Amino acid sequence: MSRVLVTGATGYIAGHTIEELLTAGHEVRGTVRSLRDPERVAHLRRLAESAGGRLELVEADLSADAGWDDAVAGQDYVLHTASPFPSVPPRDEAELVRPAVDGTLRVLGASARAGVRRVVMTSSLAAVSAAGGRDDRRYTEEDWTDLDKAAPYARSKTLAERAAWDFVADHPDLELVTVQPGLVLGPVQHAAARTSVSLVRRLLAREIPAVPQLGFAPVDVRDVARAHRLAMELPAAAGNRYICAGDNLWFGDIARILADEFGPQGYRVPTRRMPVWALWVIGRFDREVRLGLDFVGKAEQVSAEKARRELGWEMRPVRETVVDTGRSLVGLGVVRAR
Ligand code: NDP
Repeated sequence: MSRVLVTGATGYIAGHTIEELLTAGHEVRGTVRSLRDPERVAHLRRLAESAGGRLELVEADLSADAGWDDAVAGQDYVLHTASPFPSVPPRDEAELVRPAVDGTLRVLGASARAGVRRVVMTSSLAAVSAAGGRDDRRYTEEDWTDLDKAAPYARSKTLAERAAWDFVADHPDLELVTVQPGLVLGPVQHAAARTSVSLVRRLLAREIPAVPQLGFAPVDVRDVARAHRLAMELPAAAGNRYICAGDNLWFGDIARILADEFGPQGYRVPTRRMPVWALWVIGRFDREVRLGLDFVGKAEQVSAEKARRELGWEMRPVRETVVDTGRSLVGLGVVRAR
């Protein structure tokens, strides 16, 4: 049993990671920006109770020094998941990049001062294959996103991860492992959870009339959580990046799985392909859609072979991931049948 700090405990991935750690018998401390609203952490309190584990929550913000030294004190490991992840980028890129990079350096600095053994950082495929990962080869951990071509979120993740590797190069006593998830789907733990499941929500709610031909390498949030635990526990993982994502999945595939499963329950999931011209028109008004325009018709191909081989990591079938995402959104009342 170890003592583990998870940064950004309110997050989608963090919630599942905390559940994974508690279930495995670890003691968890989580950082949140503010403890003022008990509703935001109610799901974490509930899951600590049902896992019978020890969970403590403390305040720390990536944009300030306050709280970080106290947060890491006495911890064996730090799982750094916190980073700004807005569904649409802010007008000023610095709002993303600064907390991502400076926040990572704050977490690493405090970890080094406190004698933490290892930091596992949630990076992203955005730091591997964004702005290039749509050609004919499979991207691996050897690849890095080209900063000159990357969108603001991908730049924030790439710069933060690079800063982390530079930091540990100067602090050899601190180990670093990075996890590079693809598009994370899978059950949400509370109704306010947003981020990457918004696509499934939009399809179930029929917020879009047809499905753009966009594809991403998906991964289940529960498998991402397991990857974080394995990356923390296995001594040989130190100093490595691990891609955690499956084969390209088209949005049309997701829509068909949802239509099969939830159609009979009254959900009118669109399955028709959206013509590219329509995507351009919608993209003029919807920044979330506009972000996908560069990727139309291009598959995202990456290899998770290294995580399989070195961590013994496996992914559950993608159908289970998509169906469980939908079930959680339906179960929490986020979407309703018409
Ligand atoms: P969420 O938005 O659910 O979680 C992000 C977390 O970061 C939240 O807890 C948020 O806190 C916290 N955070 C953001 N800004 C700050 C800040 N200034 N100070 C402290 N905490 C902050 O997203 P995910 O769980 O999906 O993402 C978690 C990590 O995984 C991120 O690093 C993201 O880049 C990465 N990732 C996600 C993927 C996905 O598809 N979901 C894919 C690949 C990587 P608050 O609740 O207060 O806003």
